[in-house]
Amino acid sequence: MFAPALAALVAQDCCLCGRPAGGGPICAACARELPRHTAHACPCCALPVPDGEICGRCLRKPPAFDATLAAFDYIFPLDVLVQALKYRHRLALAGFFARAFDALPAADLVLPMPLHPARLRERGFNQAVEIARPLARAAGLPLDLAGVARVRATPPQASLAHDARLANLRNAFAARRRFDGLRIAVVDDVMTTGASLDALARCLKASGAAAVHNLVVARTLDPAAAASYEADPAARRRRQNGVTARRR
Ligand SMILES: [Zn+2]
Ligand SMILES: [Zn+2]
Repeated sequence: MFAPALAALVAQDCCLCGRPAGGGPICAACARELPRHTAHACPCCALPVPDGEICGRCLRKPPAFDATLAAFDYIFPLDVLVQALKYRHRLALAGFFARAFDALPAADLVLPMPLHPARLRERGFNQAVEIARPLARAAGLPLDLAGVARVRATPPQASLAHDARLANLRNAFAARRRFDGLRIAVVDDVMTTGASLDALARCLKASGAAAVHNLVVARTLDPAAAASYEADPAARRRRQNGVTARRR
């Protein structure tokens, strides 16, 4: 609690361009350039669709969650920023991400994507908790940090095919309480295939939740491409270069 509060008071250099950023982690010029997620997205999974209607994938196989709101596209430089938060502990980014949502869904409770205790020990903190904390505070909603536990450490999802991911996530979460009638806002940093969010929503619904809305900082645009993109550093570099070239 103390570290992020202190960091916010100290003048910082912009995470992206290195110029003085004032009180925040990103300067105003770089913040304006960030790839905002499109308004024409599937209301259920937030994948871009031309008409903003529910996408074919969600129609064929409805996920357990009811809606997803994404603030940004998971393309450069969001990958850089998410990693800076996760692995370089730039905690001021969590507050920046929390402020990036224009509107929040009606909810009774904010619940960050749980991290397995082994991962938590490894990393020292759960980035989803750090993003959810200021979000819950701003919305005046209770934050639930212990209601669901991640009981199985799952291997990196990128290396697995979609069906294998789902099998891998079955029983990954265990509810420690009832959520009867509650509308839950689940917070996560990146949504790739949505398999983890689906498994978490399934667990919440099985424990009585009335609705589950995901709030994700960044959404990959094509789940199939995203899996190979994460696994293949060369593809990732090509994609980054492509994006930067277009933006100039
Ligand atoms: Zn900057
Ligand atoms: Zn969808």
